[in-house]
Amino acid sequence: MWTKNNPSKLWTPGRTLRIAFLNGTREFKEATISAANNWLPHINLQFDFVEGEEGDIRILSEEGTFSSLIGTDALLSIDGPTMKLWPHSANQARYFAANVMHEFGHMLGAEHEQTNPTANIPWDKPAIYQQHGLSDDPDGDNYQASVTRKRLHQWYLDRADASESIYSEYDRKSIMHYTIHQSWTVGDFQIFPNLSLSEKDKAFMNEAYPFPSTL
Ligand SMILES: [Zn+2]
Repeated sequence: MWTKNNPSKLWTPGRTLRIAFLNGTREFKEATISAANNWLPHINLQFDFVEGEEGDIRILSEEGTFSSLIGTDALLSIDGPTMKLWPHSANQARYFAANVMHEFGHMLGAEHEQTNPTANIPWDKPAIYQQHGLSDDPDGDNYQASVTRKRLHQWYLDRADASESIYSEYDRKSIMHYTIHQSWTVGDFQIFPNLSLSEKDKAFMNEAYPFPSTL
């Protein structure tokens, strides 16, 4: 797991985060709370879930998207949602829960694991470019191609700078890892969907949000 350290986007340990549901069915809210609470045993923060528009975090139930602002960036957003969750039917409960844990990971400050400073994914860049209609040479890119290439680098290929990050060792089991198709890598490397918090996820967040030491 990793987070940026300059500026830090971590919340102050011990704090209660007020988390407001802007909309959504009762089922949606219950499933969200249940999944999000998987973080609580590992962090010295409290979640106070409320209805309405006033919260440090504001969740919108909306089809088609999962997204969240990173950590305390939520405080820079005056109104509107800071997190969007895509309600799923009960038979997709595990995937919904995994996505909620992932977005709450962002809300706690975490970035995507495939860009961890110590990630060592054997990317097959020519194959990835080809699958997106790109050549190996960025000089020939038109506008759309340059946007696509930039996204691929931001979301997958470029690792974060270690000097600007707080990180634990690269963890292919992290809830913050994207799935990676085997055709994107050299050899047989691939990442299947991670459906629960990994041991390193728990340990990292426990250090980011430490409980007071009991003597
Ligand atoms: Zn994400």
